[in-house]
Amino acid sequence: MDKTVKKVLGQIDREEIVDFIKKLVKVETVETEAPVVPVIKGKMEQIGMEVEVYETFDPRYPDKLRPCVLGTLRGKNNTPVLGFNGHTDVVPVEFPSKWKHPPFDPVADGERLYGRGAADMKGGLGCMLMAAQAIQNAGVELSGSLVVAAVPGEETGGWGSESTVNKKDWDAVVIGEPTNLNINSACNGITTFWIKVTGISAHASMPEKGINAIDKMLKVMNAFETYKEELDRRVHPLSGKPAFVSCIINGGWRGVIVADECRLHVTTHMIPGETIESRYTEVKGILGRLMKKDPDLKAEMLDWQGKTITFPLPKTGVDRPRLDPTEISKEEPVVQAMLTGSEDVLGRALPVGGSRYACDSPFYVNDANIPTLIFGPGSIDQAHTYDEWIDIRQLVDAAGVYAAGAMKFLGY
Ligand SMILES: [Zn+2]
Repeated sequence: MDKTVKKVLGQIDREEIVDFIKKLVKVETVETEAPVVPVIKGKMEQIGMEVEVYETFDPRYPDKLRPCVLGTLRGKNNTPVLGFNGHTDVVPVEFPSKWKHPPFDPVADGERLYGRGAADMKGGLGCMLMAAQAIQNAGVELSGSLVVAAVPGEETGGWGSESTVNKKDWDAVVIGEPTNLNINSACNGITTFWIKVTGISAHASMPEKGINAIDKMLKVMNAFETYKEELDRRVHPLSGKPAFVSCIINGGWRGVIVADECRLHVTTHMIPGETIESRYTEVKGILGRLMKKDPDLKAEMLDWQGKTITFPLPKTGVDRPRLDPTEISKEEPVVQAMLTGSEDVLGRALPVGGSRYACDSPFYVNDANIPTLIFGPGSIDQAHTYDEWIDIRQLVDAAGVYAAGAMKFLGY
């Protein structure tokens, strides 16, 4: 191992990492990230980073503060610029009584650190800051600049990351979502929509006088079963299969009346090669064929706001559907830098893989052509669950690989 990298790794301390991530987890950041800003800003200033805090806008929570924090560890030159991206929001705790460990009072127990956001993804964000601190404490001056972006609004559409794209001249970005320490060059996308079936109400004793929206929705759902079989055969070598899941169904309103409306909420993940546009077009085709066969079936697609989906899909603004899948080449310098970094730190190159879940990568990769990979400690299996936890050994390894990878990419 190169002596300078060794010196930086010597600055990474397990207890300090755990303590800092506990501070991040302790602050509840559901729907607003404002309370955690002082913790992040304070750490960045202590490291000697230039800090910028600005407000972003999340149309799902228009009255909440959604601040974004950018911390720059300035190098000798203006380029290259490497971004470390971590979101500061966490998903809500629906049933606190089901947690053995209190969600916002983190505890380290053996090799596990428990708390909401430990895996998704205050763990990854904390390690990114610890990596910047280790580089600074070792007295290493980077050639390019390292920017840590603590972004809001990932769980509700990626409004924070989207706002950062034009803030810096990013040459590459690493997103710290939990990948179990795989270096993920591919990432699936996600979109949600509603199917609305409209019928005609009638007295339940004479159902033939109406059109039952629930029965018609059954036809739609049967067609989706066949479509899902087709989706199951589409497999990406890195990010796996797509998904197409009925998550909510509502229909009818009274026991003696034929239902005149039924709505189905679908969450679907696309693999690289598919897009939101291609998924919507296929679903629209399925509905079209069903309606042609059955003139009584009236179905349409609505977006998350309940607005009719129209083609071509909007490319900007609130109505733009998000998030598309992404893929970058394994030969990209940022992938190679993280691989070499992992060899230095762990004695082996980490596997290159793909994420089945979606993250903020499309704002960088698809909108702005910025090579972006996903690499972070922890497993997605622990995200969004009761007693969320992260493996502390992975935190230490991730902090080291972030530091070594940044040094390889930026030079020193
Ligand atoms: Zn996440």
